[in-house]
Amino acid sequence: MTALLILGAALYGAAIGSFLNVVIYRVPLKMSITSPPSACPKCETHIQWYDNIPIVSWILLRGRCRHCGEPISVRYPLVEALTAALFVLVALRFGWSWTLPAMIIFVAGLVALAFTDLDHLLLPRAIVYPVGGLMLAALLIATVVQGSWHRLLVAVLCAAVEFALLFTINFISPRSMGFGDVRFGPLIALALGWLGWIYAFFGFLAANLIGAVVGLILIAAGRTGRKTPIPFGVFLAIGAVVAIFFGGLIHYRAA
Ligand SMILES: [Zn+2]
Repeated sequence: MTALLILGAALYGAAIGSFLNVVIYRVPLKMSITSPPSACPKCETHIQWYDNIPIVSWILLRGRCRHCGEPISVRYPLVEALTAALFVLVALRFGWSWTLPAMIIFVAGLVALAFTDLDHLLLPRAIVYPVGGLMLAALLIATVVQGSWHRLLVAVLCAAVEFALLFTINFISPRSMGFGDVRFGPLIALALGWLGWIYAFFGFLAANLIGAVVGLILIAAGRTGRKTPIPFGVFLAIGAVVAIFFGGLIHYRAA
């Protein structure tokens, strides 16, 4: 049963990762994610289904367009592999449970938003709101089926607290935190709060810690200045993933 779950999560993750590549590329440019179909940016030949198999096609084509030989970024198979890996880890962490669908939606959203923030310093509403809506629907179904109203209440409270916190930081210093983060933070707190308030707290702490360390390393390496805007959403996403898997450690020790 576990083997089936892992295999299913890996295949589903790679397919969703392929879709996320389209979302990451097109949504910040305000392009439709359904049309036109994927094409080579150089020779504009439409990519056939057999050249569009996640990870596999890129390897078989050795990272080049079949027609004109234009290099295809290694980012595409990497996003697919990353999404597949996260789906497998989440499936192993939560097993066949009512929490699993919400967490699958959550990590898919994290991948999409981390990369749009990295590429454009953007956390588009067109991604945050659908992910938030789908996740809330999944959590509501889990709540009704399990009668876990307390968990839902904690999750919503965590989202509210994080919104208030980030809104205040943004209000005081809009340059240190964009409004995209003010929208993205509560989405993360909702998912992590469902696991327990300590997870939401841990996720926020981890994001700031990792962000500070990476920022200092980049400044020391002369790659960035103190005033360069930082894609904080990337760190919020990384902190959230760390919290899903390690946020429970504090909890167990405290209990
Ligand atoms: Zn081409």
